[in-house]
Amino acid sequence: MARTKYAAMPMPRKRAHGKQPSHILTLRQIKEIGQAIKLPNLANAMETLMQPANLFLMSRQKLMAIHDYLLDRRLTSIQQPSSKLKLPDHARLLISLIYPGYPLSKAQDLACRKGRESRTAARKNAEAFAYDQLPCTEFLDRGDEFMRIKLQPSLSSCASHYSCSIGGKALSRAISPTDSFKSLSRRMLLYLWLSPRLCLTPHCTSLLINGIETWDKDDQMTVNQGYKHIDITEKFDWNKLTSSKESATIDFYLDDADADADLQYATIIFGWKKSSLDMLCQLYMSTSSKLMSDALSNSKTIDTTQQEAVQLFDRCPPELRWTLGPVQDLFLDVGRLFYQPVSQDDEDDDLVCGREYISLMDPVMLSKIHHPCKSIFCRHASCFDAKCYFDLMKQQQAWACPLCHIQLRGSQDLFIDYPLKRMIATYPDADRFVKDADGTYLNEDQCSDRTTIANQPPLAPIVIKPIPLDD
Ligand SMILES: [Zn+2]
Repeated sequence: MARTKYAAMPMPRKRAHGKQPSHILTLRQIKEIGQAIKLPNLANAMETLMQPANLFLMSRQKLMAIHDYLLDRRLTSIQQPSSKLKLPDHARLLISLIYPGYPLSKAQDLACRKGRESRTAARKNAEAFAYDQLPCTEFLDRGDEFMRIKLQPSLSSCASHYSCSIGGKALSRAISPTDSFKSLSRRMLLYLWLSPRLCLTPHCTSLLINGIETWDKDDQMTVNQGYKHIDITEKFDWNKLTSSKESATIDFYLDDADADADLQYATIIFGWKKSSLDMLCQLYMSTSSKLMSDALSNSKTIDTTQQEAVQLFDRCPPELRWTLGPVQDLFLDVGRLFYQPVSQDDEDDDLVCGREYISLMDPVMLSKIHHPCKSIFCRHASCFDAKCYFDLMKQQQAWACPLCHIQLRGSQDLFIDYPLKRMIATYPDADRFVKDADGTYLNEDQCSDRTTIANQPPLAPIVIKPIPLDD
């Protein structure tokens, strides 16, 4: 029998979104899943399954068929969820099983755009709102819309006054707790729409909930930063409302500049505010996934490699993937099994200059590096600390490497350096290591001849300019 292939063949058609995501499937499995969801043609199955966003656009039957397949082939031990689980939540679960570490918000935005652009989907859902067009930060994941209210201009004399009400019963029906997001803090975000495609930047002068003023300087700052949501999580006791038959009335007064705006809808969605720690966990997951995916691509015994990978990822199920301990352990295990050193031929010859010291001092916070990280574009051996970096990026969204200043698209361009992380885990008290000419790291005690070690050049000062958000 011919050996199984990992699904990393050249794409049959030109791919719109570049490289395929890290995933656990072999080519044969993609074909078989394709057959299970009525895509008998391999090219179509590849095109559909190599874009995680497509799972958000599938019916419950198809998601269940994929889940059954994963269980049947022992690619997961997580059972089918109850039929009460909302469809997008099942899609999220399957994405985290098939493409571990893939950012769910990115998949969701792509699905939102595809849903609006595809005519079949548009027929099913004539008014898919353009959430994918809204400015967002990596520290806030948008969830599902759970309330859409048609607005009526208020009968009061003020032209820019709108009013709507949220019933406790409707709110409790809309909310279903999602286990996999336990550690991310859930936000309620309100958006105002001129049409399903056009969201208004809410320059409010007043926002009353049951007659109480709630518009504050944080809301104004969010608007000034170019965002379009109003975070209403703490403006009212929504939990109490869900257990009552009451309703809450929201009154907005828009700034005079928006007096002519003809507001049509208010929508409320869930959002998840991510901390630097959540971002760090996500980075460990995406790097683990990449190491696993590369190993599968190069494996000569892919079925064995795949089972090893699945067992490792199974030990860190989706609900634990926002907790640093299990995620770091997973990363070290994945690295131990799957890390493949980059061959020296691929490295830039100019930069390889024998042995050199690698400092564990973070260039941003000047503290010790615990989570060594750099970007896929960096040509230097040194790393910076991912947690410190995310702390900084939370303040100023200007993604650039603090060492070589190369511009980055976002956290998607970062990875954790496995060999250095392994050294830090093995020698927790060390302040620096020696990187040998062949790329391996040594503890200083392991270096018999220290005269040949080059000192690291001093670091350049950090200059990061904030990039203004597109409105
Ligand atoms: Zn760099």
